[in-house]
Amino acid sequence: MKGSTKYILLWLIAGLCVWNIPYSAAQSVKKKINVLIIDGQNNHDNWPQTTEMMKGYLEETGLFSVDVATTPSPGQPMDRFKPDFQQYRVVVMNYNGDDWLPFTQQAFEEFIRAGGGMVSVHAADNAFPGWLEYNKMIGLGGWGHRNEKDGPYVYYDETGKRVVDNSPGIGGSHGKYHAFQVVIRNKKHPITRGLPEIWMHNEDELYDRLRGPAENMEILATAFSAKDQRGTGRNEPVMMVTRYGKGRVFHTTLGHGDESQQCVGFITFLQRGAEWVATGKVTQKVPATFPGADKISLHP
Ligand code: ZN
Repeated sequence: MKGSTKYILLWLIAGLCVWNIPYSAAQSVKKKINVLIIDGQNNHDNWPQTTEMMKGYLEETGLFSVDVATTPSPGQPMDRFKPDFQQYRVVVMNYNGDDWLPFTQQAFEEFIRAGGGMVSVHAADNAFPGWLEYNKMIGLGGWGHRNEKDGPYVYYDETGKRVVDNSPGIGGSHGKYHAFQVVIRNKKHPITRGLPEIWMHNEDELYDRLRGPAENMEILATAFSAKDQRGTGRNEPVMMVTRYGKGRVFHTTLGHGDESQQCVGFITFLQRGAEWVATGKVTQKVPATFPGADKISLHP
């Protein structure tokens, strides 16, 4: 190569680099939705794995930038757990443990009320039975001595009618660990639009008899809790959305073990739910690998 050609090529490469760095940085600053996953305590010992999995699923859409805030261990002082919620548009709750300090609870309420987004995953709806505002956010919860004092049961009957049931009884249970069909009840919501009405979820716990304030709550999907699986014989809510102030919440009861979170159905709802709570819209396409009515589909 001649000296002058080499010189021109070097300038060209340098120019491309200089132009490209601020361009891509500006793109990512503009596009990415900041998400904070909160974990650190959970009766599900696989929480470090599920946090890692969910972080990966969100990031692979190219829409989200994900941080993780891990609380102190059970029984340890919580005074240093003060996430700066204002840095985020979405908080994903992978937490079921000790109460946060009032300061942190109030900061979280203000964040959601002012328009922040929240995604509640599986046992996060077991958390904080005594924190009323949190229970308003999730709509329904289970365990932690929840019963009729915490609100009604909400489910669908065999005719497809939504039932609000104030009868006394426990809040939260599940039958055998098994694969089951999920049925979309609202096909017009941005999270569900374009998804198959019925799909097969990989083995998971099917929560039943959840109770809570159920205010401003819409059920997106249910699953039939069969009595021969030690269930209730009801169509139990498995995914719902609520409004809290200006904030949006997406709540999925799915996601007990790692294998349940490998389900493309679980992942698709997580990704779409996180976008919807952040922006009120969903721009993601339905994956070609979405599960069929009788066909489980797992993320590679
Ligand atoms: Zn579980």
